[in-house]
Amino acid sequence: PARTRFAPSPTGFIHLGSLRTALYNFLLAKATGGQFLLRIEDTDQSRKKEGAEEDIYEALTWAGIKWDEGPVVGGDHGPYKQSERLHIYKEYADKLLESGHAYRCFCPKDRLDKLRDTAQRLVPPSMATYDRYCYHIDCETSSTMAGSGAPYTIRLKSPDVYPRVNDLLHGELDLQIQSNYSDPRYDDPVLFKTDGYPTYHLANVVDDHLMKITQVIRGEEWLPSTPKHLALYNAFGWTPPEFIHIPLLTSLEDKKLSKRTGDTGIKSYRENGILPEALVNFVALYGWAPQQSSATLSGTKKRREATSAGEIMNMQELISKFNINGLTKGNAKVSESKLEFFNSYFLRLRIEDAEKRHELALQIQPVLIWRFSDLAKKKPHRHKFELEYIEKVLLTFKGSLKTVTELPEIASYVFEEHPDYASEEALEYIVSLSASREGNDAIAILQDFAGWWTHIDPMPTVAEIDAKIKSLAKAYTSTTVFHALRFSISGSVPGAPLSQLLNLLDRDAVTIRLVSALK
Ligand code: GLU
Repeated sequence: PARTRFAPSPTGFIHLGSLRTALYNFLLAKATGGQFLLRIEDTDQSRKKEGAEEDIYEALTWAGIKWDEGPVVGGDHGPYKQSERLHIYKEYADKLLESGHAYRCFCPKDRLDKLRDTAQRLVPPSMATYDRYCYHIDCETSSTMAGSGAPYTIRLKSPDVYPRVNDLLHGELDLQIQSNYSDPRYDDPVLFKTDGYPTYHLANVVDDHLMKITQVIRGEEWLPSTPKHLALYNAFGWTPPEFIHIPLLTSLEDKKLSKRTGDTGIKSYRENGILPEALVNFVALYGWAPQQSSATLSGTKKRREATSAGEIMNMQELISKFNINGLTKGNAKVSESKLEFFNSYFLRLRIEDAEKRHELALQIQPVLIWRFSDLAKKKPHRHKFELEYIEKVLLTFKGSLKTVTELPEIASYVFEEHPDYASEEALEYIVSLSASREGNDAIAILQDFAGWWTHIDPMPTVAEIDAKIKSLAKAYTSTTVFHALRFSISGSVPGAPLSQLLNLLDRDAVTIRLVSALK
């Protein structure tokens, strides 16, 4: 069983990339019957962002990524916020000082700045950013200086040869850093800062070890740090976890992700009606594919089928199918339109479930009332803003909705009194055809239907309406029947099945629309 973790720094809001990292770690833990931990890496106090920590909890909870150990829920290896573990890092930094794997650096900031500036100006880079000045201070002097209160950082004594990275996804990687100062990364990384905080490197390694993490899945941007981490594990004499560095997110066209998809916080997806199960499904496929589908399917046709039904997976299915062998090495590419596809699918599932449908209705009700505020208060219309009716609307439109938030737009004509566009467009449509046979048919169809509609009692069921439409379709051209009826009651908007729509709308509303179309 794997013990994995998601270790975000609260420096910004959770976006698609970080959600994916969290998800893969979660899936790996769950797929192997292990545990998933959440750890807040808040040692860089200057980069902390207000509200970011809450955003992490909220986004993960919303997405259904439950952590077994971490803030809020606790656990045996806490605390899980690095700012609450400072004494632990101090203790471990001191251990490295004692064992000779680290040394105190008393260099003032302006000296270090100057060194860095010089090093960075060299093209190609051929000098470390630190010259190891304090490396040569003997232990006794170093202790005395520290004892007298001189501020210092603690630096790792870089090994002569940095360990190779054996990444589970990429194999053995040669990120070798030579000992002759020719590589700028060879800079004796700072482990502990003058302000009493550890750096990311030290805290990350100490925590992964103490929290018994077995696999680390993280973004490729951390790859350059990994040799340093491995050097630290060696210095402590610990076995490192296995590393898996996943590629950056790109869009299908190999460009950077669009602003809309890439930089958006998870929260804004939520606010725009994206369902967590759809976003999770979408994000899961950004760099991973269930293995059997790529192995057993061949040919474009089969592959195309796989991009629809075969790729739909809820969290349980993802857990059962997740395997790191399904991760992709290259830049992960997913068509952004897939999110829409997944969302309509999962939205339809929710609408078909009575309890969830009720929740959706509750969610959209205030928006509808606000949007159609003048009608929501008026007598014959008031019922349209009650949950029962809204739920019926959801059922009627379940096949054409991409998000629940677009309901007020797409279904406006089932809330409005006399949608202007309906009668106008219907009129235009009929006028445009009036010279043709189809035009005459349209008028006859509407007259026939209106005659039936106004006299049948009680209000016809969906099946009865269907039967009537079928009989009209037999007598006339069926496309004309559908066009004429749909245009007159809803305008040109395609969407909900016609018979359901007619059944949903109240009787008078339909009559008025038919009559005005015939005028
Ligand atoms: N705190 C780092 C981040 O914000 C964690 C990197 C890692 O997973 O090791 O991404």
